[in-house]
Amino acid sequence: MSTRLKIAIQKSGRLQEDSLRILKECGIYIDNGKDQLKARAQNFPLEVLYLRNSDIPEYVQDGIADIAIVGENVVVEKQKKVQILQKLGFSKCRLAMAIPKDDEYNGLEYFQGKKLATSYPNSLKAFLDENNLNSEIHVISGSVEIAPNIGLSDGICDLVSSGSTLFKNGLKEVVEILSSQACLVCNENISEEKQAILNDLLFRMRAVLAAKNNKYVLLNAPTDKIEAISNILPGMKSPTVMPLLKEGWSSIHTVINENDFWTVIDQLKANGAEGILTIPIGKMIL
Ligand code: ATP
Ligand code: MG
Repeated sequence: MSTRLKIAIQKSGRLQEDSLRILKECGIYIDNGKDQLKARAQNFPLEVLYLRNSDIPEYVQDGIADIAIVGENVVVEKQKKVQILQKLGFSKCRLAMAIPKDDEYNGLEYFQGKKLATSYPNSLKAFLDENNLNSEIHVISGSVEIAPNIGLSDGICDLVSSGSTLFKNGLKEVVEILSSQACLVCNENISEEKQAILNDLLFRMRAVLAAKNNKYVLLNAPTDKIEAISNILPGMKSPTVMPLLKEGWSSIHTVINENDFWTVIDQLKANGAEGILTIPIGKMIL
């Protein structure tokens, strides 16, 4: 039987859909029966194990799975030996401290001697120790944000993305402990055969991720402005220039980072660029 790389992804919940999507964007198709615990890719030597998020770091450390897609926050909290290979750009959130919105907050001293509810005791403990704070940690497994309201704690340490859950519960965020996103993690000792499959997968993932951050840009400009415009465009190498049928005009094509695009747009227009189009890129191999 030929070797397959075993990847763990979340069985159900926030990370599952985007985890399967990134595999699909890498050209890997999974037969996904809803209640399956295991599935195989049709066209890549990959086996998918659907597991609880919170169990994933241990399964990867123990080699039950070779790699996994999991939130960095879970990796940090579980303190297992796994290697983070690549951040994946989704499920972004932060682990933060929050307190009742009407409480006055004037620094970390606030937490001294306080009772804090969290599902992330190890991460919170490390933060408190680093700051020489003595607080009481109260571990609860979910709905942490209601703890202050029901008198269970003074403050909380929990994951936040938009902040609307905190707001609805009359809390305000005061300190960020950790910022997190989904990442690809790996067992520390995988076989050479599996490493080769992993290298292929990583190559594809990086091409997909690079493409997401970049856009293919086309614009028309007076031919005598090509030099000036090329200097403004932070392209991959050198832009492609093609003549337009209209005398004295050219079409310029390049690839730029989406964020850079917005910062140079005014300069492009000032140099006579017109008909500017951006097109999403499927894969990008640098
Ligand atoms: P399990 O799979 O073990 O049931 P869970 O119930 O904690 O785990 P979800 O709630 O589906 O799983 O997802 C939680 C993960 O989603 C977090 O660990 C984090 O990486 C990510 N995440 C992103 N934004 C948020 C957020 N605002 N609140 C909670 N988790 C978030
Ligand atoms: Mg859950």
